[in-house]
Formats: sequence, C-alpha cells, structure tokens
Amino acid sequence: MIPVTRPYFPSREKLNKYIDGIYERQWLTNNGVLVQELTRRLESYLRVENLLLVANGTLALQVAYRVLGIADDTKINQPEAITTPFTFIATASSLKWERITPVFVDIDPYTWCMDPGNIAAAITPNTKAIVPVHVFGNACDVEAIDAIASKHNLKVIYDASHAFGVKYKGESLLKHGDAATLSFHATKLFHTGEGGAIIFKCKEDLERARKMINFGITGPETIEELGINAKMNELQAAMGLCVLDEVEENLAVRANVWHRYEQALADCVQLQAKPDALDYNHAYFPVVFNSEAQAVQVAATLKEHGVMARRYFYPSLESVECLGAKADQTASQVIASRILCLPIFDRLSLDDQQSIINLIEMELKA
Ligand SMILES: *Cc1c(COP(=O)(O)O)cnc(C)c1O
Repeated sequence: MIPVTRPYFPSREKLNKYIDGIYERQWLTNNGVLVQELTRRLESYLRVENLLLVANGTLALQVAYRVLGIADDTKINQPEAITTPFTFIATASSLKWERITPVFVDIDPYTWCMDPGNIAAAITPNTKAIVPVHVFGNACDVEAIDAIASKHNLKVIYDASHAFGVKYKGESLLKHGDAATLSFHATKLFHTGEGGAIIFKCKEDLERARKMINFGITGPETIEELGINAKMNELQAAMGLCVLDEVEENLAVRANVWHRYEQALADCVQLQAKPDALDYNHAYFPVVFNSEAQAVQVAATLKEHGVMARRYFYPSLESVECLGAKADQTASQVIASRILCLPIFDRLSLDDQQSIINLIEMELKA
C-alpha cells in the first residue's frame, strides 16, 4: 500500500541520545531544555522571532485567537472571523470552538487561497479577524489581506500549517499577520509527532501566550488570567530536534518527487498557481481534474492498485453542518470536488511514483 504521506522517521540513534538526556535530567515537560533548544533552533532556521512551541496546531490557533482578543469583546454577542472554506477542518472548527463564528469567503480558483477581493463584502460590525490559510504551502495574497485588515482594524491570524520553511520575496512567509500558526503533526513536513507553534508579530503577545499555555500561572502562588494546558513536552521536542537536523535532505528529496510529477502531469491536470516570488517547500502535490467524476474515477483506479491518493480538502467547509455557514462558495466547491493529493514523502520510490503517473495518464486517456 502506498499512502498519501508517511511520517518522517529521523535517525533512531540520535533520538536515543536525546532520550538518554531526558532520563538523566529527569525533566519531561514545563519548558524543558529541549523545548528551549528547539525554540531557538526553529527561530534561527525559519528566520523568525517570537516563536512559541505548543502541544499541537489546533491549540496554536485557539491560543492565538485568545491572545489577540478575537472573542473578548462582551458587547459583541457573536464575534466573527473571515476565513476560507478550502482547508483542513481545524481552521474553522477552532474558531467555532472558541465561540467565534467562521464567515467563509470564496477562494481564488487558481491559487486556491482566500481571494482578498471577497473580504470587504463579508465585513460586519462583529468582524474581529481574518484567518486565511497558506493552503498546501502557497502564499496568500498577504499584501492585499494585510492592507484590508489595517484599514478595518482587524487582526490577521494566518494558518500556516502547511508553510514550514516557505519564503516569500526572500523572507519567511511566517512573518505576515499578527500571528502565524504551524502544525507539527506527524504527517506534516516538519513534525514533533504532535505539536505546533505560534509566531507572533509582537513580543508582548508572545509573553502573554507563554503564560496562557501554562494555565495562566505566573508564579508558585499566582494565576494571572484564564489559561489552558497547551505546552509542548520534552519527548516531542526531542523528535523535533532530530527531524530538524535532517529537514534539508527531506526537502531536497521531496522537491525531486514534486518535479517528476510536475513534468509528467502539468499538461493534463490543473496545478496550483503560485506567485513568482515564492520559495516553495514541496509539501504537497495536489492536482485538479476536469470533473468530479474524473477525480473520483482516478482515485478509485489508484486505490485498486494500492495507492491512497486523498481528496484534500473535501468537502468545502461551508457545507459542514456543525460550522453553521449559510452561502455556498462556488470556487471552493469546484476545486474541492475535483482535487486529489498524490503520494509525496521522502521514501516514495521512483518505480512507485512512475506507476502512479502511468495509472493517471491511462485514466485521462480513457
Ligand atoms: C494539520 C492542520 C491543522 C491542525 O494541526 P494539528 O497539529 O493536527 O492540531 C490546522 N490547520 C491546517 C490547515 C492543517 O493542515
């Protein structure tokens, strides 16, 4: 069976050494030395400041909403955040979980990111934030989004779960927004088993978040404000340090896989359009077919041959009932219904990749 992705497993020997250290120090969590080391190394690798490691990418979003006060205003019965329907469920469900209403605006049919041209019409007196997603690691139109946000005095939280290591105009994409969040789930390009991070624009927000992820505790006998447990532990950090040591090789191998797919398939399917100034991480290889029937047929044929291409991200989230959205988002529905993500991971063999390409070509000719 060939899965759509496989977690990256770094050197076992190196991981054992880190675990030996954890046993020697007898320190498992609460801002341990490995969490501190991983924080420094990620800030340096990603060229960002104010990075806070957390337990997972969903809590990263929730803590960011809290720190930026999206749900604070008691005069507003129902705070709203403008977001995209073409993403993993956690972007929108984390809003709803924090009692912020996700208001969906449609995506650009080529970049598959939120179309900034749709934002203004969705702003109401209750709008507090914009939560766009750098979907599949592509850059949102950050200049346009940041301009709309400052004009209307809205906070911007980018869900950058797919954008580890992505640069835009020579700088980390993660520098945009009041906060950008990462997921370090096992299936992500860089991972800590489970884990995540928030990159804040302001140091004060980082300091407030640091307290918030530890129950709001600020001293042995002081609790400053309402908090939660969203801390990363030492075992997660140990895995992260090992994966980070090998991330450059992992990126290079993925880029090769990505370019082989591109060369074979670019003429017969729609690929994601990216800005020229993007330095991409090759985290995903999504393809859009001419019709939903074709996408479903290709997925079925691949599955018959043990290849698990996945319909990411299907369905378009405005159709998920528990999120309570009203209007259909046409471009998102079209892309969501016709998309497949093809297997891409470091140990995908040339032969396996070639047979995936052959099966797709065969289906497209049929
Ligand atoms: C993976 C992912 C998340 C959630 O991250 P977890 O670490 O699994 O909680 C959120 N948003 C997007 C876009 C994701 O892909």
